[in-house]
Amino acid sequence: MRIMDGLYYYPETGFTSNSYIIDNEVRILVDPGHQEHIKDLIELLSEDGFTLRDVDLIIVTHAHVDHCGSVRVLQNELNVRVAMHEAEREYLVDQARYFHRLLGEELWMFTVNQWFKGERDECVSNSNLLILHTPGHTPGSISIYSPDKGYLISGDLIFQGGVGRTDLGGSGELLKKSIELVSKLDIDMLLPGHGPIVVGKNEVKRNFNFVKGFMDSVL
Ligand SMILES: [Zn+2]
Repeated sequence: MRIMDGLYYYPETGFTSNSYIIDNEVRILVDPGHQEHIKDLIELLSEDGFTLRDVDLIIVTHAHVDHCGSVRVLQNELNVRVAMHEAEREYLVDQARYFHRLLGEELWMFTVNQWFKGERDECVSNSNLLILHTPGHTPGSISIYSPDKGYLISGDLIFQGGVGRTDLGGSGELLKKSIELVSKLDIDMLLPGHGPIVVGKNEVKRNFNFVKGFMDSVL
């Protein structure tokens, strides 16, 4: 569903994540989700006139199976490029091995063609997107910020009324720092990895304040 010019939101269906399309010169799919979600995603995309073949780049916010379990299949079928943060490199391998052992699933390791580096990385030239390293939920979690359009895709860093869990290789301390960092940005729309989006500068601010209070009591 189109939520602003060049930006589309596809809510999670079951055990998967929200997905987003950033429709610039390079068409980016953020977090394609779990493999079982792909059929639903294809249907939702088609309502906006997209197919998966239109995607030039997949950005994975972090290496959890509900966000990137489908990437391997998509990469095999579409030969699409994949990008994530270099601080997630080892964690990605650990997660792939873990799910292989736990579920006996086919190893869902995929190839990363572009590793974002440092605290801040310009994503794709001309798109004016910033990739922010926002660890805490996982070591290499990222948020995608558009200063021009005022949106932040936050992965599992922060949700409406909550924060990402830190007990899967994350860190409460880093999560707090990352939330502090992004709360200083000028954001009109917060687009999390799960649950509803938060619309409006005041609502986004209120959500940050609520979450910060909540974090102080539990982390
Ligand atoms: Zn996660």
